[in-house]
Amino acid sequence: TSFGFRTVPEDEKEHLVKNVFDSVASSYDLMNDASSLGVHRLWKDTFVSSLRPGRKGPLRCIDVAGGTGDIALRILDYAREEYADRETTVDVVDINGQMLKEGFRRFKKTMYHNTPQISFYEANAQELPSSQFTDDSYDLYTIAFGIRNCTSIPAVLSEAYRVLKPGGTFACLEFSKVNNPLLSFAYDQYSFSMIPLLGTILAGDRASYQYLVESIRKFPPQPEFAKMIREAGFTTGKEIDGGAWTDLWGGVACIHTGVKI
Ligand code: SAM
Repeated sequence: TSFGFRTVPEDEKEHLVKNVFDSVASSYDLMNDASSLGVHRLWKDTFVSSLRPGRKGPLRCIDVAGGTGDIALRILDYAREEYADRETTVDVVDINGQMLKEGFRRFKKTMYHNTPQISFYEANAQELPSSQFTDDSYDLYTIAFGIRNCTSIPAVLSEAYRVLKPGGTFACLEFSKVNNPLLSFAYDQYSFSMIPLLGTILAGDRASYQYLVESIRKFPPQPEFAKMIREAGFTTGKEIDGGAWTDLWGGVACIHTGVKI
């Protein structure tokens, strides 16, 4: 079913993505909960808790396409709760000022507000200003449900590689390809009808949520994306050992990691 959705030419994509997130910013957290029945929270918990096994020292992190700060907040909470670490920092980067504003407002209610642990920056993942985001400067780069919205995935990966320290980790959480045909069918039915419908009811904005569903459909499948990560210079686990990525819910979402050599 297309609901009149039009395929967006690549040169219009950036502008459209900005409008989409402008219009969903204030309802974004509510919609995330409604459309995934709260499951995105579990995926984000799994994602963040898998990122620093055994790495006790404070980390310098950058969360790109960080939106309203869901990942950043988890990184800081996890560091504090698991490692008694109050020095890890997260720079949240997003192309959309409205999403960042929601994030800033949210952090005001946390203990991290007004501390060096959290900062917000409006910038494009594909060209992080090199004066601010210098080469070899981060231990951890995260991007959750964001890379599929970017016009050029290789440009994002190359910037991630540039800003990470040697030995630093790139970690991506993204909707992906469901391999089981039955699950895939059920998921398609759900996402193509329920999510735009929920978008209409909860956010009064069907078109934006249709775009979000369509962008999931177009994202490269797991082996192809893992290859792109390697082409950017990272090492990933071996595909044959199942180590190149971790599927969540049979591939509805997926975690990819790479280490900068
Ligand atoms: N990471 C957050 C989360 O998991 O809740 C937000 C995910 S939201 C689906 C996608 C975000 O990507 C939006 O905030 C959007 O503004 C941002 N985005 C889209 N294109 C971008 C780009 N080229 N550079 C930086 N951020 C971008």
